[in-house]
Amino acid sequence: MESKFTEAHQKLSEDGHESECDKIAKLLDLMIDGEASTEEQSYFNTHIEECVPCFESHQKQKLLKGLVSGHLKRVIVPESLALSIKARIQETV
Ligand SMILES: [Zn+2]
Repeated sequence: MESKFTEAHQKLSEDGHESECDKIAKLLDLMIDGEASTEEQSYFNTHIEECVPCFESHQKQKLLKGLVSGHLKRVIVPESLALSIKARIQETV
């Protein structure tokens, strides 16, 4: 079991797979921000289809981004509430 795992890992390093993952890691930010070019997007998508670690890190980044924007949306205060807060502040001043 253990030796098989090591063999597979060495194979990945030999065919330059690791440096491709480095490129993907750099593309990840562009992909998440939607700033990657069409070529970069297809390169990225082809890679994560066959590379589980990169696929997982992409999923995690998407999740993080989703949590952040979801959080921001919740923070925005409805105008009526903002007005009533302002009114309350003016009353006490
Ligand atoms: Zn990869």
